[in-house]
Amino acid sequence: MSDAVKHKILLDESEMPTQWYNVAPDLPEPPPPPLHPGTHEPIGPDDLAPLFPMGIIEQEVSADRYIDIPGEVLDIYRLWRPSPLFRATRLEQALGTPARIYYKYEGVSPAGSHKPNTSVPQAYYNHAEGVKRLTTETGAGQWGSALAFATAQYGMECEVWQVAASYRQKPYRKTMMEIWGATVHPSPSNVTDFGKQLLADNPDHPGSLGIAISEAVEAAVKDPDTRYALGSVLNHVLLHQTIIGEEALLQLAKVGETPDVLVGCTGGGSNFGGLSFPFLREKLAGKMNPTIRCVEPAACPTLTKGEYRYDFGDTAGMTPLVKMHTLGHSFVPEPIHAGGLRYHGMAPLVSHIYELGLVEAIAIPQRECFEAAIQFARAEGIVPAPEPTHALAAAAREALACRESGEEKVILTALCGHGHLDLAAYESFLHGEMVDADLSEDAIAAAMELVPAL
Ligand SMILES: *Cc1c(COP(=O)(O)O)cnc(C)c1O
Repeated sequence: MSDAVKHKILLDESEMPTQWYNVAPDLPEPPPPPLHPGTHEPIGPDDLAPLFPMGIIEQEVSADRYIDIPGEVLDIYRLWRPSPLFRATRLEQALGTPARIYYKYEGVSPAGSHKPNTSVPQAYYNHAEGVKRLTTETGAGQWGSALAFATAQYGMECEVWQVAASYRQKPYRKTMMEIWGATVHPSPSNVTDFGKQLLADNPDHPGSLGIAISEAVEAAVKDPDTRYALGSVLNHVLLHQTIIGEEALLQLAKVGETPDVLVGCTGGGSNFGGLSFPFLREKLAGKMNPTIRCVEPAACPTLTKGEYRYDFGDTAGMTPLVKMHTLGHSFVPEPIHAGGLRYHGMAPLVSHIYELGLVEAIAIPQRECFEAAIQFARAEGIVPAPEPTHALAAAAREALACRESGEEKVILTALCGHGHLDLAAYESFLHGEMVDADLSEDAIAAAMELVPAL
């Protein structure tokens, strides 16, 4: 291996980007507006005010290409940012590929994923407007712990509804949230009307992300000092995550590289959008021409099998209607280990960009993903979270195609979290107990019937 190869491409704190990038004004067509759940008319800022502070609502609908990151947020970002970009030379060797593989590692954040990139500004804007308490949902626990960390920085209260199945399976994520001062309920819970209704039917209800969102929204709208925070899907969340791609652009430039292929895992679309949108800007400006590919789990294939329709973000139908790729808001995916990828919808921005043909999408079953993750961990050391194993499997497919063709492509991906609290998933894979969850086409068809006809 040449001495000239840099393994870690680092930025100094002084080189950290100071603006987020909003892709919407650069798109050939604007994304369709969100609609009021009752009237089906486009919503205005006042409709969102019970849920979000004005600082966040302005970003949700902003037409500005760049938005300054507040100094206080930059200061907290500096606890772990800029994050490293790694060249995966040992993985390249293991795969026998002439491709060059780079990964942007977000597991260095306090919560262990990319989620604090948005939980910190969300806490900041709420705190600035006098909000005392934030409510949210969490599946695998990554978003709940990121918000608990951020609210602790501002001395705010944080109340988290964690999908019951994962609340029972992942006690350590709950402990992390409690260390940072959050209150955690299993969802469905007996503290909301919607939760009580579901528990009355089934006291052992496993819950879902859509249900937990309904509970957190219900709790927020009932209290004037409380707002709700969402960890993915919405425009402002993807905006905050663009710090990932902006840093990666600077880091690749330091080693004179431009990507040929960019792959990212998509649950709600935030780490994918965060990494890819700055590169999409360069592509639309004709400065580079990477293929940009979303990777989703075969058990929850929102982009590749869902329909592009107006649908609710939650199960109870309390959120605005957004146009997105959806499997239906009542769809409950199989309990695959990548909890962060088990959401029925996809970010409206990512869905729109996919419809415009600017990005591609593929779905991969979980065993191929864990196989790629084990190979990655043995070569590069880091144990990935179950979600980015999908991106790693896609990167491995691409690298192996290069081995066949002899092409020296530059592949870029985001390793958006570490898997230290997901070892049960690895145990199940290593003991041969993991199965590729069957996708029930009937379940999708039944869920799609409940999507409003718009
Ligand atoms: C939440 C989460 C995801 C899924 O959310 P996106 O918005 O699609 O990024 C993926 N990976 C990790 C590590 C997560 O915590």
